[in-house]
Amino acid sequence: MPDPRLAPRALLIDLDGVIYRGRQVLPGAHALFAHLHQHRIPYRLLTNNATLTPRQYQAKLRAMGIRVPATSVLTSAVATAAYLREVAGPGARVLVVGERGLRNALRAAGCVLVDRQADYVVAGLDRTVCYPRLTAACLAIAAGATFIGTNPDPAFPTEEGLWPGAGAIQALLTACTGVRPRVIGKPQPTMLEQALRQLGVAPADALMVGDSLLTDVAGGRAAGVPTALVLTGVTRASDLAAATVRPDHVFRDLAELLAALGARHELLA
Ligand SMILES: [Mg+2]
Repeated sequence: MPDPRLAPRALLIDLDGVIYRGRQVLPGAHALFAHLHQHRIPYRLLTNNATLTPRQYQAKLRAMGIRVPATSVLTSAVATAAYLREVAGPGARVLVVGERGLRNALRAAGCVLVDRQADYVVAGLDRTVCYPRLTAACLAIAAGATFIGTNPDPAFPTEEGLWPGAGAIQALLTACTGVRPRVIGKPQPTMLEQALRQLGVAPADALMVGDSLLTDVAGGRAAGVPTALVLTGVTRASDLAAATVRPDHVFRDLAELLAALGARHELLA
């Protein structure tokens, strides 16, 4: 059934747990993109994962039969780089704890990556992080460098169980220095606000589609964007009763979201 409240002019869509889980495309994903492209509904794909570049995400999606422009992908790395370009301008000296996706994004934004005398320390997920790098980051923060976190996720799921995430690495730096990072990714509003600016859409006219109450729904709330939760990822239907942040809409999967959305857009067309 179409929901009369559900008529977004643009979509902000999380990737993991919404479009795919691991290498598996989730139900309704292909049809959703076909719908968005057919009706020329603009969208951005928002992921807290800062390890891959937008082009790598584009390739990952293409391998699943989903074609999107690389510019439609906004990672927390790209968002962090855009934020730094805005507040610091080109030439900012940045010490990075993070992987290629983050390093590339910062360089592309005009940041100079340094090992010492940094103005900023940017910390994201780094699966090869070593003690000397963490030490350099702590020393820089203690010396007054601004501490920025790409995304706050403390852990991420793997086939083995939970692995330490960007938030766990930031927590180590905080434990040593007593300084908390300014975080860019969801549930902070910065990344969503950047996406809305790119799309030229007011918060109330967009819809944030995600699988996580704590990041996607809370992020939507922080940015003033209505939210749709899909139950194909980390949040289960049973989690909703006790939830402190509530989504505006709940769908079993993208196929169910599309049924509500599709009818509505046909009506508006
Ligand atoms: Mg997700």
